[in-house]
Amino acid sequence: KHHKPIYLNSLLEEVVKLIKLIHPTKNIDFILLLDKQLSKIYLNKELIKQALLNLIVNAIQASQKSPIIEITTRMSANRHYQLIRIKDNGIGIKNEIVHKIFMPFFTTKPSGTGLGLSFVKRIILLHHGIILIKKNDNNEGVTVEVALPCNEDL
Ligand code: ADP
Ligand code: MG
Repeated sequence: KHHKPIYLNSLLEEVVKLIKLIHPTKNIDFILLLDKQLSKIYLNKELIKQALLNLIVNAIQASQKSPIIEITTRMSANRHYQLIRIKDNGIGIKNEIVHKIFMPFFTTKPSGTGLGLSFVKRIILLHHGIILIKKNDNNEGVTVEVALPCNEDL
């Protein structure tokens, strides 16, 4: 019903454009590594857009210096999922709180709502997808990985 065939790459490009409009003065370096081979998949476009926007805003808010945000898309090895990776160079997440970040109202920000990631998780689960966050190898910042199933007409 609300799920329509969408190109993830186009959606990500839309979201990046939107962020540049919201933060025109911030010097955000977006690196888009998009797999041009990806076909359309069934998504609730508005919800996935909101979810991606939340993830990218988190990435920007985590960075103290100039944000460098690398966004990658590719097909999973088993070809059942399309993968989105959002890598930042921010402050990272302390081990003590990793298990809390998806909880509603959990925030480390002075005026955060703590609702972003719980919303994102619900949206991804609604699509039968998977989301996880891991530290970058160089210990600077984190990478959020989202897997969305291909060709699932919900
Ligand atoms: P909010 O952004 O309002 O704090 P979220 O649910 O979006 O709420 O995020 C919850 C918490 O998870 C954040 O307060 C922050 O501590 C942590 N977090 C989320 N994304 C990142 C990120 N990219 N880098 C570092 N910490 C993050
Ligand atoms: Mg947030």
